[in-house]
Amino acid sequence: MKMSQINNKSQQINDKSQQILLDRPSGKLSDRPSGKLSDRLSGKLSDRLSDNLLDRLSGRLQEFLPEIIALNDYLANHPELSGEEYLACKAMTNILKTHGFQIEEKIANLETSFRGIYGANNHTYKVAILAEYDALKDLGHGCGHCVSGSISMLAALALAQCQEELDTDIHIIGTPGEELYASKCDMVNLGVFDDYDLAIMLHLNNKNLIHSKLYAIDTFQYNFHGKAAHAAAAPWEGANALNAVQLFFHAMDMLRQHVLPDTKLHGIIVNGGSAANIVPDEASVEINIRSGETSYLDELNRLVDDCARGAAIATQTTWDKSRTSDRNCELLKNETGVQVLGEIYRELGIQVEDDGSFFGSSDIGNVSYKCPTFHPTLNITEDRSPIHTQGFANCVKTKKAHQAIELGAKVIGMQILKIFSSDELIKKMKEDFNSMIYE
Ligand SMILES: [Zn+2]
Repeated sequence: MKMSQINNKSQQINDKSQQILLDRPSGKLSDRPSGKLSDRLSGKLSDRLSDNLLDRLSGRLQEFLPEIIALNDYLANHPELSGEEYLACKAMTNILKTHGFQIEEKIANLETSFRGIYGANNHTYKVAILAEYDALKDLGHGCGHCVSGSISMLAALALAQCQEELDTDIHIIGTPGEELYASKCDMVNLGVFDDYDLAIMLHLNNKNLIHSKLYAIDTFQYNFHGKAAHAAAAPWEGANALNAVQLFFHAMDMLRQHVLPDTKLHGIIVNGGSAANIVPDEASVEINIRSGETSYLDELNRLVDDCARGAAIATQTTWDKSRTSDRNCELLKNETGVQVLGEIYRELGIQVEDDGSFFGSSDIGNVSYKCPTFHPTLNITEDRSPIHTQGFANCVKTKKAHQAIELGAKVIGMQILKIFSSDELIKKMKEDFNSMIYE
């Protein structure tokens, strides 16, 4: 399919999804002559069951809401950077333990990750509700992860006692370091998501979306190596690494005319020399290379490397590069599941505001290559301040944010209830997933 450059990974994914199809739902569904699953297949009873469950969901959301609003405000007041979310991890796992969850710590060897499991954990299906809780340097929770993490907590607490009716294990997975380390990639690479039938989280935003269009992204540091010299007394003895950086940026600026739409190339100088009177012998930049499709990233890498090569030749310097974060893929759009989210937004009176623009990039894209994955958003701003701004950071403890905690948890809860109350939806969702991975 479209991800030629991660063939090995997609091959593993293919094998896994094949296994999911062969081993899991199909066998078990036909093995049951009566009981809840056959009840579900009869439309009327299935509707009644859903109403019952929906009422229970609403009741339990109300029950846990004050505790989770307090959690949000605590997280908002104690922002922690990627990989350092010790307070958040402790606060969240303590709440889960209090309400009967068992906690697995350090998932994928990540210090501040966790998985919460409730009850027997032996159902046919398995769902992962993902919680992020890292903050931004200087901006605190400018990406709203205190709110989105709290939404996931509330949804998991409320859904835990619906596991029997849904024949589905509901897990909450604490995924730290989204901003800097793309830790979900570590989890994906270590097989954490191999057995899940669905993964979901809801992100905060300045608009309401049922699907987040995410750029695939590669992040590199490019280093240029020159030769130091006195900048006035003997510049002819030097080779200027900062000049190489300038040419590199200029070449990338020109390259932008000739790459596919939905490409983004941008970066910063992280080392531009040490003193004005010394020819810089070392200079480095960090570059983000983004595309709407993972499959275009390798070509972009080749083109950007050529920009570096040309800049180095022209300045008599040398260059190398290193990857500073795992590749994040785009978020595969599961049409069936996104349609269900559309219904839910309509039922809850949330106006969808999809103008086709991109939301950014996230490590959740890689999860979407493992199982059907959803990342809807809710607006918590009054003035449309975008995420990663002070304006957005100012919104995370407002009444609107508190309301979004209940609303967001309801969205996640309804998505899981609707899909796992319907064998037809489960089947269609899995077919969508397989068609994207295979074709
Ligand atoms: Zn975020």
